[in-house]
Amino acid sequence: FIEMRDLNKWFGVFHALKDVSLTVGKGEKIVICGPSGSGKSTLIRCINGLEPFQKGRVLVDGINLDDGKAVEAVRREVGMVFQSFNLFPHMTVLENCTLAPRRVRGIAQGEAEKTARQLLERVRILEQAEKYPAQLSGGQQQRVAIARALCMEPKVMLFDEPTSALDPEMVKEVLDTMISLARDGMTMICVTHEMGFARQVADRVVFMADGMVIEEAPPETFFQSPQHPRAKAFLGEIL
Ligand code: ATP
Ligand code: MG
Repeated sequence: FIEMRDLNKWFGVFHALKDVSLTVGKGEKIVICGPSGSGKSTLIRCINGLEPFQKGRVLVDGINLDDGKAVEAVRREVGMVFQSFNLFPHMTVLENCTLAPRRVRGIAQGEAEKTARQLLERVRILEQAEKYPAQLSGGQQQRVAIARALCMEPKVMLFDEPTSALDPEMVKEVLDTMISLARDGMTMICVTHEMGFARQVADRVVFMADGMVIEEAPPETFFQSPQHPRAKAFLGEIL
């Protein structure tokens, strides 16, 4: 469903992604981990056209991101959730969830609200629909961000460290939401260091360092017998 071939990205002279190749099938769940600065965010931002790249190919659902016009089409299929929740502060939860469906997909207000309420229910936060983001806890805001992304009916969801800005007691509610999404068959790429989550839902763990994919293995294999010294060192630090 997603295919990256020999992807290379530079920030000026800095080589941020080096010949990264990664294929993600429909319904697959990938966890990306690795040290800070290894290129994890840059990689997933390349998937929905948030970062231009200089060499290689990225295909999402058969659409080639090289083509400038394709970016719009790809973004409609890809939902993204960031570390900082990025909700619109001056809009209610419900308005946050209906804005893009109305503006980008031209869905009528009533229909957009109906869908939004269903998805807010699904992330167990419907009772907060009329509140503003600042009135919610971090975990609640992040669940709204997930619901908001789902309102666009994405075919794949990208998560960039969605729980790392949260207080520990709120991490679980967000992970539970992600686990339920995974169970429903969503194609997911998650940058996270939540190794319990990786064990539970990942089909593959991708370990990055220095802008390269160093190791790629099912979670059992990766956690029990990491091959590369950098992966061993990394696991030693976080587990
Ligand atoms: P973290 O775990 O800290 O989030 P990461 O693996 O997500 O790290 P990236 O954010 O992808 O790392 O950054 C990879 C490298 O690219 C880093 O060295 C970073 O400094 C550099 N970089 C990222 N964005 C830019 C930018 N806009 N301009 C210049 N360099 C950048
Ligand atoms: Mg990052």
